[in-house]
Amino acid sequence: MTQNRAIRYFMGVHKFAPLLAINGDMGWISTQHRRWVNILRFWNRLVNMPDDRLPKKMFSYDYNCFGKTWCYDVKTILQQIQMSHYYENKLPVNLKDVEDALFVKYKTDWCNNVRNVAKLRTYIEFKQHYNTEKYLLSSLTKIERSHLAQFRCGILPLKIETGRYVGLNVNERFCHFCPVNVVEDETHFLLNCIKYNDLRENLLSKCKDRNPDFEHMSEVNKLVYAVNYHYVHVAKFLVEAMNRRRMSLYRN
Ligand SMILES: [Zn+2]
Repeated sequence: MTQNRAIRYFMGVHKFAPLLAINGDMGWISTQHRRWVNILRFWNRLVNMPDDRLPKKMFSYDYNCFGKTWCYDVKTILQQIQMSHYYENKLPVNLKDVEDALFVKYKTDWCNNVRNVAKLRTYIEFKQHYNTEKYLLSSLTKIERSHLAQFRCGILPLKIETGRYVGLNVNERFCHFCPVNVVEDETHFLLNCIKYNDLRENLLSKCKDRNPDFEHMSEVNKLVYAVNYHYVHVAKFLVEAMNRRRMSLYRN
């Protein structure tokens, strides 16, 4: 879909990036949503049309047919937002109300679906609502935006992600650099990995300065706080740390 391609390009993520995550961060109205509203706009024109007009006659024929007709689509759309009485009584709808109700439904479905994708286990920690994220409106460079988007979507090539490509169990996707076996997931990479202790000093001091409770937070809450409130420093850290990681792993 063109819209998803545009979102991927802007965010700097690959084509296997989870659609729920990239759409959730971008917060745009879906193309399907716009198509539904256009269908209902046409419905309004048809139900208001005099009965002797040819399009109205075709509409009445379609309305009385069984199966997946155009009118069936209208019925399905209206059923989703508890407005099927407009369909049953062939009444015009208030497009603004319909648009709002469909968007609420879309956002509710998104919230439910995003919780069922294992890959988005970290994403749901810092993303609760379908809306445009600030980092996408900020002045981050393209590479910073891309690293942050990949990190949020769980596709930054850390071991937790690359281990999946070679069939490793989640609890065996160990960090290459730490002496004890510890899974290299987003939390480890951002907050704990010894390989980047110096690089995260700036980020951690910003977090501690702004929030005296930061040091006492759980690991997850630290991650959520840093990503949500200090995304500029997180993005800069990610670019530098990933660069160091690449240089260490692939310099030969
Ligand atoms: Zn490590």
